[in-house]
Amino acid sequence: MSPFTFQPIGTIQSCFTEKFGIPRQPGLVPEARAVLEIVPPFDKAEAFRKLEAFSHIWLIFVFHQCLAHPWKATVRPPRLGGNRRVGVFASRSGFRPNAIGQSAVRLLGIERKKGTLRLNLGGIDLLDGTPVLDIKPYLPYADAIPDATAGYAPEAPANLKPVVFTTPAEQACQSADPAAYPDLKALIIGLLAQDPRPAYKESNEGKPFGMRLWDLNVRFRVDGDQIVVESIGAKN
Ligand code: SAH
Repeated sequence: MSPFTFQPIGTIQSCFTEKFGIPRQPGLVPEARAVLEIVPPFDKAEAFRKLEAFSHIWLIFVFHQCLAHPWKATVRPPRLGGNRRVGVFASRSGFRPNAIGQSAVRLLGIERKKGTLRLNLGGIDLLDGTPVLDIKPYLPYADAIPDATAGYAPEAPANLKPVVFTTPAEQACQSADPAAYPDLKALIIGLLAQDPRPAYKESNEGKPFGMRLWDLNVRFRVDGDQIVVESIGAKN
C-alpha cells in the first residue's frame, strides 16, 4: 500500500519548549495548559459544533521531535526506571514506526481570537509546536474501562515529592507576568512533584537540574525527599 499523507489540522502552543520535565502522560498535571490553534481550512465553526459540551477530547498528534530517529523494536520506558526494555508496541514512547501519539486532555473552552480558532486545553503532555492530526470527543462509556489491567504501569506514578522554593525563586513566581506565565508556581509544583529526573539519575542528589518552561529556566535540585526550586530566570 502506498504511504499516507496527513495534513495537520492545527498546532499546539504549550509552555513545554523542551522535552525534559513534560508530564509522561496527560492528566497528571492539570495546570499544564496549552492552546491548540486550528489552521484553515479546518477552522470552520461548524466543524466544532457540539464539541464544547465534552469535558475531554482525544488529540491525535505527531511526535515531531522523534521523526528524525529510526524506530527500534524495544524501548526503555521511564516507568521501568529507563533501564529495562519492553516492546515498542507495549509502550507509549514517541519512537515508533509511525511517530503518532494520542492524549486525552481537558477541553477548557473554544474561542476565536483575532480570527484564529483556538481550543484551550488542560492536563497536556505535549511539546510546543506539536502538529495535531485529529480531534475526537472522549467518550467515558467506551474509553474509560474501570476493570482494565495495565501490565508494568498499573497506576499513576505515586510518591509525589514535596516541592519547596528558595526566596529568590518564590519572588520570581510572584513577579512573573501572569498573562505570559499563567499559574507559574502551581505549574512548577505539579511538574516537579513528579520528579522528572531520569530514574537512573536518582542517586545524583544535590546535582542541579534545569527545566525550561516558555523562555524560563527553572533550576532545581533534590535535597533528601524534597525538591528545592533554586531559581527561575530567563534562559540564556
Ligand atoms: N499521551 C501520548 C504521549 C505519551 S509520551 C501517548 O500516549 O501517545 C509523553 C512524552 O512525549 C512527553 O513526556 C514528552 O517528552 C514527549 N513528547 C510530547 N510531545 C512531543 C513531540 N511533539 N515530539 C516528541 N516528543 C514529544
